[in-house]
Amino acid sequence: MPTAIVVGSGAGGAAAARELQGAFDVLVLEAGREFRPLALDLAVPERLKRSGLLFDERLIRLLFPAMKVQKTRSGLVLVRGIGTGGTTTLATGNALRLDQGLRAVGVDLDEEFVELGREVPVSTAHQARWNETTRRLFEVFETMGLEPRPLPKMRRSEACGPCGRCVLGCPSGAKWDSREFLGQALDRGARLVTGGRVERVEVENGRVTGVTARVGWRRERFAADVVVLAAGGLGSPVILQNSGLACQPGLFVDPVLCVAAPWDGARQDREISMPFVAERGPVILSPYFDHLSYFFNRDWRPAAGNILSLMIKLADSSAGSVTRRRVEKTPTPGDKAALGAAVDLCADIMGRFGVRKRDLFFGTLNAGHPGGMLPLTAADAATLHPARLPEGLYLADATLLPEALGKPPILTIMALAKKVAKAIRGGPGRVHEPAAARGT
Ligand SMILES: Cc1cc2nc3c(=O)[nH]c(=O)nc-3n(C[C@H](O)[C@H](O)[C@H](O)COP(=O)(O)OP(=O)(O)OC[C@H]3O[C@@H](n4cnc5c(N)ncnc54)[C@H](O)[C@@H]3O)c2cc1C
Ligand code: SF4
Repeated sequence: MPTAIVVGSGAGGAAAARELQGAFDVLVLEAGREFRPLALDLAVPERLKRSGLLFDERLIRLLFPAMKVQKTRSGLVLVRGIGTGGTTTLATGNALRLDQGLRAVGVDLDEEFVELGREVPVSTAHQARWNETTRRLFEVFETMGLEPRPLPKMRRSEACGPCGRCVLGCPSGAKWDSREFLGQALDRGARLVTGGRVERVEVENGRVTGVTARVGWRRERFAADVVVLAAGGLGSPVILQNSGLACQPGLFVDPVLCVAAPWDGARQDREISMPFVAERGPVILSPYFDHLSYFFNRDWRPAAGNILSLMIKLADSSAGSVTRRRVEKTPTPGDKAALGAAVDLCADIMGRFGVRKRDLFFGTLNAGHPGGMLPLTAADAATLHPARLPEGLYLADATLLPEALGKPPILTIMALAKKVAKAIRGGPGRVHEPAAARGT
């Protein structure tokens, strides 16, 4: 059987591996270790913060190894998951179909979304269990004509507390993440190497022959007929650059800013994260307890249960870059203006809820939806193989998205990764015929 290497086991990697195994003998190389949720009680980081030990968001890895934080020069905090399940293990479980940009370049994901509808449990059943704060906020949004709607969640609601810790890893297993697809790929015979950080892809005579990876202290070469990069919007561009394959400086990240206030008994820390959403142009607004700000931002002084917070998430400009050494991403004047207008709207919402304007404080500007460094174009839509990549090398992650979604991308990335895998398998609409299958 021909062989395929899938790099990364997050949204795109796990979906691609599951789809490829059987037609290919799949090896998943995952840089991180097996995912474990943060086991600590929130009181521990709270104590560490009060004693001044939590002074930089990058320290989160000491407490929670699966969460990796990088900072840009402008201070933007970039969050991603490194471990089995990638960033999906840190997600709040939102599941939206957001393929307008892909459709515009000619990629039809109808079939893949139907399949995901069967494979991933999604519901808004959590609405029946919202706490008083969430219900009142929803009413305020409605009264203001913001047309809030409950967010569909990837979870098995009967097992969900809710405990409010989705971004720290689900302790009960109620939340769906891409480890389920990874597990199904392994059940079908795929192999997984954790702690295997791919450095570069190997190419001979214009076609991929495998990858070189660090596994522990060793550097190893893995041969394959096909390589699928799904190391995420910050990981795949670095592997491409290490391999002499340039990307475009089109990085988007969906920046997040929280507007918060003290509110006794808000209990958002124990509520489902992002229970509902309202859209306003390039931003969405949603109630959200921001753990990273709570742990590291000195303005977040009230006890966790006594903070009321609204998240602003922006579909930012495709202007930024990733290299091995650093990520460059500075909000453009347009991005800043959109965030500023959203802050005013949040202040208005908070005011109607009963918060005094002078009590407002902000979260740390952060982001967790990187992508766009090698966006699909109309010319690539039929093959799903960007023309600048050598034969046999594919991408199946957020790197391919043509523009910022400004909203939760997991479902869309998984649909796209499935489509890429089908194209590789040579399903309807074609594509690649592995060397081994051709007998060359
Ligand atoms: C706190 C938070 C909450 C979020 N909530 C939601 C949500 O509710 N809904 C939603 O749709 N989206 C959410 N997102 C965004 C979403 O999780 C990501 O956009 C999505 O997982 C990206 O998928 P991906 O396949 O591109 O990359 P990832 O899921 O990040 O997977 C990349 C994988 O590659 C591995 N890797 C990286 N480098 C290498 C290498 N060199 N070699 C081998 N392996 C490597 C990583 O360890 C990881 O497993 C959230 C993000 C964050 C940070
Ligand atoms: S609220 Fe808690 S139990 Fe429910 S899905 Fe999130 S982490 Fe799991």
